[in-house]
Amino acid sequence: MLNRVNAPNDLSAFWMPFTANRQFKQSPRMLVAAKDMHYTSADGRQILDGTAGLWCVNAGHCRPKIVEAIQHQAAELDYAPAFQMGHPIAFEFANRLVDMAPDGLNHVFFTNSGSESVETALKIALAYQRVKGQGSRTRLIGRERGYHGVNFGGISVGGIVGNRKMFGTLLTGVDHLPHTHQPAKNSFTKGVPEHGAELADELERIVTLHDASTIAAVIVEPVAGSTGVLVPPKGYLQKLRQICDKHGILLIFDEVITGFGRLGTPFAVDYFGVKPDIMITAKGVTNGVVPMGAVFVTSEIHDAFMNGPEHLIEFAHGYTYSGNPLASAAGLATLETYKEEGLLTRGPEIAPYFEEALHSLKDEPHVIDIRNIGLVGAIELDPIAGEPTKRAFSAFIKAFERGALIRTTGDIIALSPPLIISKGQIDELIDHVRAVLRAVD
Ligand code: PMP
Repeated sequence: MLNRVNAPNDLSAFWMPFTANRQFKQSPRMLVAAKDMHYTSADGRQILDGTAGLWCVNAGHCRPKIVEAIQHQAAELDYAPAFQMGHPIAFEFANRLVDMAPDGLNHVFFTNSGSESVETALKIALAYQRVKGQGSRTRLIGRERGYHGVNFGGISVGGIVGNRKMFGTLLTGVDHLPHTHQPAKNSFTKGVPEHGAELADELERIVTLHDASTIAAVIVEPVAGSTGVLVPPKGYLQKLRQICDKHGILLIFDEVITGFGRLGTPFAVDYFGVKPDIMITAKGVTNGVVPMGAVFVTSEIHDAFMNGPEHLIEFAHGYTYSGNPLASAAGLATLETYKEEGLLTRGPEIAPYFEEALHSLKDEPHVIDIRNIGLVGAIELDPIAGEPTKRAFSAFIKAFERGALIRTTGDIIALSPPLIISKGQIDELIDHVRAVLRAVD
């Protein structure tokens, strides 16, 4: 057995992602083990996981069923290609995923991450329009404050300036809808905000500007996660769907965060009752344990490709690790765990408790807004003048010192604990946040 690796003295070789490397390496925060709701830090402390890793470990850490499935699969069939070859477990996993997916999303394309799922979905949308004889539909519509991973398609349709500005012109032919955050009207809303459905009408404006015959697809996160848990206003997603239908535009939901129980329902599609043509997932699909993504499409899209000339590869796209056996095994065990423990439908039981606990922070220092849906929430802080992000980041550091992992984006604290969290642990998490809000400058 491999033993736990002690932190080396030299941390310079690993260029860490989305991290202030110089700052981190002066005072590193290391996690060395995990179990259920907790990490163990290198100095031996138990850290309550308030963010399910990076919004992905929905069933909690080191779950025996998932661990065993991976061990067994690694010994049985470690790797097999999925190009012109098959292995049963990937087909089995696809079947189980389709069984639990919203009606009509009947086919799955496997990737290795959320970012790859985004690129895959955009390429399916563009290729589908061509296959249907509508090759002039090449324009993609994203949204301000959208996060769709870090690859070129994703940062092009995404709406985070910091992730875009260093990388040149990106994809051409992309427009953005306005974001749906309306603090003046909706602050401290519990759940779905009342105001703002009309923001979806901006899609009509874009259609008028460019003509529908040039637009392939609209991509949005049903709930924008990474930019601070922006819950769509009542009726907004329905409107987007209607406008897309009216103009023959595909609707893509990026459910990388909202998928697999985060909103208290299996998918955001189930929560809002609005169905996209393509649904992007990753993270919770394998409980974050082995990298994997899954893009769901309707039969209409899938069949349009399959009905082409027989001798051709229908879609010139795929990854060495698409449907990887280890990831598929982890995914199957993850779905079983979700099912056995009812984790994807815990909303009615646990979400109201989480909501009340979160909103009890309303009168704490620096708090200017609180938002929530299902088991995800955000606490927005008043930024320090001239030093945006500093206050929330300081809260993150203090929370870690106290024994809780929270996440910050700008001056927003986000909480998205594993779906196994108990009411007592929700109280504990909120108490940590309360204490750090009182302690930060
Ligand atoms: N889409 C959304 C909505 C996400 O939240 C994320 C990751 N947070 C991604 C895409 C990218 O996923 P990954 O980091 O696995 O590439």
